[in-house]
Amino acid sequence: MTVASDRSIAYFSMEIALESSIPTYSGGLGVLAGDTIRAAADMKFPMVAVTLLHRKGYFSQTLDSVGTQHEAPTPWPVDEYLNLKEVSARVSVSLDGRTVALRAWQYDVKGATGHWVPVYLLDTGLDVNSEWDRRITDSLYGGDKHYRLCQEVVLGCGGIRLLRSLGYDRLGRFHMNEGHSSLLALELLDEEAGKAGRDCFTHEEVELVRKKCVFTTHTPVAAGHDQFPLDLVKQVTGRSDIFNMKEVFCCEGVLNMTYLALNLSHFVNGVAKKHGEISRLMFAKYPIDAITNGVHAATWVSSHLACLFDEFIAGWREDNFNLRYALKIPKERIEAAHAKAKGQLLEYLRLRGFAGFEEGILTIGFARRATGYKRADLLFQDIERLRKIVKDGGPIQIIFAGKAHPHDLAGKGLIRRIYAAKEELKDGLKVAYLQDYDIDMSRLLVSGVDVWLNTPMPPLEASGTSGMKAAMNGVPSLSVLDGWWIEGCIEGITGWAIGEVDGAPSESERSRRDALSLYDKLEKVVLPRFYCDREAFVDTMKHAIALNGSFFNTQRMLQQYALKAYLL
Ligand SMILES: *Cc1c(COP(=O)(O)O)cnc(C)c1O
Repeated sequence: MTVASDRSIAYFSMEIALESSIPTYSGGLGVLAGDTIRAAADMKFPMVAVTLLHRKGYFSQTLDSVGTQHEAPTPWPVDEYLNLKEVSARVSVSLDGRTVALRAWQYDVKGATGHWVPVYLLDTGLDVNSEWDRRITDSLYGGDKHYRLCQEVVLGCGGIRLLRSLGYDRLGRFHMNEGHSSLLALELLDEEAGKAGRDCFTHEEVELVRKKCVFTTHTPVAAGHDQFPLDLVKQVTGRSDIFNMKEVFCCEGVLNMTYLALNLSHFVNGVAKKHGEISRLMFAKYPIDAITNGVHAATWVSSHLACLFDEFIAGWREDNFNLRYALKIPKERIEAAHAKAKGQLLEYLRLRGFAGFEEGILTIGFARRATGYKRADLLFQDIERLRKIVKDGGPIQIIFAGKAHPHDLAGKGLIRRIYAAKEELKDGLKVAYLQDYDIDMSRLLVSGVDVWLNTPMPPLEASGTSGMKAAMNGVPSLSVLDGWWIEGCIEGITGWAIGEVDGAPSESERSRRDALSLYDKLEKVVLPRFYCDREAFVDTMKHAIALNGSFFNTQRMLQQYALKAYLL
């Protein structure tokens, strides 16, 4: 039995994907957080995690006949979850001059060896709070800047207070998964000043706190970083003292949560080697390392493949490095297990009214947030060419899924364009767009398709993780060289690259070239291998597992965090 005081690493994330029926995540960031915690539990890390409860979830998506997205809140019955327990501790934060009370729910994430990592979900839904305050922890990425800042005070400051009141008094590392939780560092500074009997902190205390903080940045786009006007910060937190320490708290007249985390962390990293480089260009003053993301193997491998691994690869769940021994599994067994996963996916499609998808046809999957830079429509740049490729090289069927953020009009437009292409291609190839993408659907897709497609506009895909999930399932990627794929692609061995690493003179030119390359690869390499050289295709499947599954997992990732950030 682990007691609170033994735990030494606190992991903070605005979103954490715990399970499909708990909609407290929006996409990659939350899934990564969940997979990190699951790996920490496997590896008996002394970790504890903090997030918000998000009673109304992110949103559920429905798509009408032309692919227009409609959104609805997804309230979930918090009290009915047996694995969620309300903790008795109560803490509070000050917001807009009011005292807002917080409670928390505990969810224990169990690892492969029975160790567990507690996750605390903060909740302002208490009767003592005003109607408005009760909703602060309701909606993930909902509301305006004021709402968001209130959430971030709850997560950062409230989170630390909760951990203290639960007895976590030996925490030596505070890991901020993206800048949303940066205010935890302010709380740690206040704690230090408080210990010294002062109400303002010193530069020595800043150094002390820096030694304890770790920051992972995820976004290679400046606009993706939260920033708040100083007036708003003063109004919400009631603090103006902090701006005296301008070099820490203020950047170009705003409180930028990324800079706050950069200034107050001893270790900062991007989420793939390339993203580390991009981040060093964006934040030239700071030393920024790179730790490439991973996924949690036991979570993402289909039950069919998991059975096969159990038979051939002892201990793969406890230690994912063992996946390298997938090379020893007989080809026909890999093929048979994948066929079962594919059958399960196609059955799921049939039940949802998508008729005519067939087991023997090359099935391409594309599922991730629907947002401009992911270029979900790249495959449809030249419909006639695609038609011809299929006519000459063999049939293809394509399955899409993904939600657009409610305010992302370009992302919503992408979904409609895929619907339009689907209509246009009706007699040439089958296209399905599944609604309401979530982690269960993701597991079906990454294990059931034959090739995983990814077409981001470089360098905007910081890492990308769904291709790693596919790799674990023996599904090779066909992807633009960006994020993790720059590291994971060994041409023809683990999958195939689309386009060149180097840039083009413009985005439109880049898209034109990438589309050409995508068509060429499909026509000349992927289709012939799938239909005419099964031996070689299954060999690629095996290498995807052995070379990429064994490395691009959160167990390896956490070991690197331990080496570089936690134990230092
Ligand atoms: C894995 C996953 C993502 C992230 O996919 P990327 O390829 O990193 O964009 C998003 N949403 C869900 C539901 C996922 O399972």
